[in-house]
Amino acid sequence: MAYTQSTKAFEEAYAVIPGGVDSPVRAFSGVEGTPPFISHGEGAYLFDIDGNRYIDFVQSWGPLIFGHCDAQIEASVIEAVKRGLSFGAPTTVETELASEIVEMFESIDKVRFVSSGTEAVMSAIRLARGVTGRDNILKFTGCYHGHSDSLLVQAGSGLATFGTPSSPGVPADLTKHTLLATYNDMASVEKCFADAKGDIACVIIEPIAGNMGLVPADENFLEGLRALCDTYGALLIFDEVMSGFRASLIGAQGISAVKPDMVTLGKVIGAGMPVGAFGASAEIMSHLSPEGPVYQAGTLSGNPVAMVAGLTSLRKLKSNPAVYVDFATKAKKLVEGFKKAAEAVNVPMVTEVRGSMFGFFFSDKPVKNFADACDNDTQMFAKFHKGMLDRGIYLACSSYETGFICTAMTDEMIDVAIKAAHETMAEIIAS
Ligand SMILES: *Cc1c(COP(=O)(O)O)cnc(C)c1O
Repeated sequence: MAYTQSTKAFEEAYAVIPGGVDSPVRAFSGVEGTPPFISHGEGAYLFDIDGNRYIDFVQSWGPLIFGHCDAQIEASVIEAVKRGLSFGAPTTVETELASEIVEMFESIDKVRFVSSGTEAVMSAIRLARGVTGRDNILKFTGCYHGHSDSLLVQAGSGLATFGTPSSPGVPADLTKHTLLATYNDMASVEKCFADAKGDIACVIIEPIAGNMGLVPADENFLEGLRALCDTYGALLIFDEVMSGFRASLIGAQGISAVKPDMVTLGKVIGAGMPVGAFGASAEIMSHLSPEGPVYQAGTLSGNPVAMVAGLTSLRKLKSNPAVYVDFATKAKKLVEGFKKAAEAVNVPMVTEVRGSMFGFFFSDKPVKNFADACDNDTQMFAKFHKGMLDRGIYLACSSYETGFICTAMTDEMIDVAIKAAHETMAEIIAS
């Protein structure tokens, strides 16, 4: 494939945008080549400005569960656009979308809309601190909760120690309240609670982690978190920005019996428009301004065009719950095909599927936490990514990302991707 126009576009972008991109993951830093610049999408396909066509397994990093340019979503958005882009005043569509979410999630009585997943989590954390009157929060190494200061904490080697900032510009004073534990390791969580003498406002977790590759939490681990939070009066927050409406209609909560105190949502909830949300019981949410003292606001929060996109999308999903079975069937077929392609040339691979989410690591042992994930063969991944891209298969450009199936994907497309994987693996080994 030729990438001439994209290469030129990347150089031009580089001159005026740091790294040429508005979000670092898009820069192809972990793989070969430079990013294709996108012209348009159509169903499961993505087209770049050189005219190359790809089967898109990134789906805008999750939001596009119906693929690109779904006719119903598009029509509802265009209608909303004609009524005005934003009012900064209440609209009934916000209530409609909120009602759908409250009806779906047992853990949510009330929900507030924001404009991104980062904002949803940041606001949920503030609310948890406000409600409990405590400062410390506990997160897991390898879980991503957006780029707000107190959540941007890297994996330190010392478990249950106070976190260190993972980015310059984040004061240590802000992250000293962020405790780090190991995913799927109850002892590390117990140690954090003991060290902090139980003084922890909340435990935040991706119950199905999607930002260190796809790494689901064990059910007994989630049960353990629930019990510990109850013992110490800490709130349990499920960050389902990615897994919500993806792993099942109600995300991890449709798979696990454990109920969180608070939930954060994003990505699919806006169907490609900027939307995030956080919800909880009426009691917890009553602490939020203007009902309560915990402040949170947004000029474009509950934006009517974005709300309509989300509402159309969620109603479509709700009316067809069988779609998740179909997603999982396709996702399993895809990663099993990838695994066979790798094993055909004696390269080990481990795979994972939850609903429409899929993950694969070039590794020979199960991945339970971030340290396991880091053990994968990133060079092999980089070569695999390039070979697949050249064959029209658009995969996330890092081995620590999750892939996505959308309703527009056919069995034939999965076959095409598997065939490309066989060719790519054979090519890598021959070179
Ligand atoms: C993507 C993501 C976020 C951040 O959402 P943005 O819309 O990118 O700000 C937060 N948490 C999880 C689990 C995510 O996957």
